[in-house]
Amino acid sequence: MEFNDSPEEAAWRTEVHDFLEKEFPPEFRGRGPRRGPAAAAASEGEGPSEGEGLFRGPNEGDPMKRWRTALTSRGWVAPAWPKEYGGAGLDTKKQFIMNEEFAEFGAMNVGGFGVMMFGPTLIVHGTDDQKKEHLPGILNGSTQWCQGWSEPNAGSDVASVQTRAIRDGDDYVINGQKIWTTGAQFADMMYMLARTDPDAPKHRGISYFMLDMKAPGVTVRPLMTMAGSAVFNEVFFENVRVPARNRLGEENRGWYIGTTTLDFERSSIGSAVGIRKQLEGIIRFSKEHPELSVGSGKHATQIALADRWIEALVARMMSYRVVSMQNAGLIPNHEASMCKLFTSEMGQKIAALGMKLTGMYGTILGGAPQYSAAGRFGTGYIAAVSSTIAGGTSEIQRNIMAQRGLGLPRD
Ligand SMILES: Cc1cc2nc3c(=O)[nH]c(=O)nc-3n(C[C@H](O)[C@H](O)[C@H](O)COP(=O)(O)OP(=O)(O)OC[C@H]3O[C@@H](n4cnc5c(N)ncnc54)[C@H](O)[C@@H]3O)c2cc1C
Repeated sequence: MEFNDSPEEAAWRTEVHDFLEKEFPPEFRGRGPRRGPAAAAASEGEGPSEGEGLFRGPNEGDPMKRWRTALTSRGWVAPAWPKEYGGAGLDTKKQFIMNEEFAEFGAMNVGGFGVMMFGPTLIVHGTDDQKKEHLPGILNGSTQWCQGWSEPNAGSDVASVQTRAIRDGDDYVINGQKIWTTGAQFADMMYMLARTDPDAPKHRGISYFMLDMKAPGVTVRPLMTMAGSAVFNEVFFENVRVPARNRLGEENRGWYIGTTTLDFERSSIGSAVGIRKQLEGIIRFSKEHPELSVGSGKHATQIALADRWIEALVARMMSYRVVSMQNAGLIPNHEASMCKLFTSEMGQKIAALGMKLTGMYGTILGGAPQYSAAGRFGTGYIAAVSSTIAGGTSEIQRNIMAQRGLGLPRD
């Protein structure tokens, strides 16, 4: 692994940096990293809301529109997609550098699930007609996608999905329920898994569909999280008709197409820079308010901050490992799980440290008058809980590391 940028990579870093200096809306500046709901809440200040960037809210503001336009003009909405499909065709190292620079600025990507997960799957598995129909809307932001996989009895074990799809002429008729569907209340389309053959072994009876969220029979019910935001939803299907041309790949082969989407989810490693910025926020706060940690508490805080700082460096090395594997054409597997596990648990430890430092002031949402910034540590602490569940729980990551990394038996 080469840790320093090559001359070409250094030039690329400068190009991204200059672009951000020029184009990133001043309204969003200085408000900390935006990597996901937990980080958004844990980071500095009141930046764009959790939904912005990840998916388009009903009242997308002007700064976000400007930002979207700036990214689109460069093909940077989808940095990883091949150029022929409207992406920037960047190699993994350049994407990583871009992510690092974006995290330094607290800048968010705008493509959401469509760019990160569904688009790449469609490029691999879709027909020409399907690509023509759906890729442009993902790139120009006119079509927002959500991911309909989890169900009340199918989360870690997604292959147990029970939502049924029955063929009826040129359509499939869908009945069932999804849960934890992020952004469903804003989405135009859902990529989803449904059971087409209940008699087949569970992995072989699932098909992959593109479902219109405005179709008759779709009901979306937002779920309020304990962090006080409606990030995700329950989605109910009652005799929803999906045209057969909206099936991706062969009938009953949906699980294998779905694993492609999962690979993209697992390989989109959160930038370690975002975590470091979170920690920097706590260090700054602790310097501004030395009266909050005194005596032995001061010593304990110093040690904890040093420990977290070392871990942030370790997280960076882990990200580098995954990126260098991808750059060498290898597919990170348990390595990506290690990275996800370490960074998500570390994010929780950092959030806990922020809470410990601020004490009771951190529990006042919105902040106490004399420590207005403390409120964000409380929100961040609550929001960080989900980071070890979303995208595969810590237990599932440990299973992958044990079986595929250490070669241990399944049970
Ligand atoms: C912020 C957030 C956003 C999300 N967004 C989406 C979305 O957009 N679309 C979507 O489809 N889903 C989404 N999810 C759902 C997410 O994928 C599931 O929550 C996750 O896969 C876990 O499934 P579950 O909640 O059903 O828990 P379960 O699978 O029921 O697990 C319960 C507990 O049992 C443990 N466990 C389960 N199986 C094993 C095992 N084999 N070995 C050891 N322990 C095990 C788990 O680790 C966990 O502690 C989101 C979740 C979160 C938190």
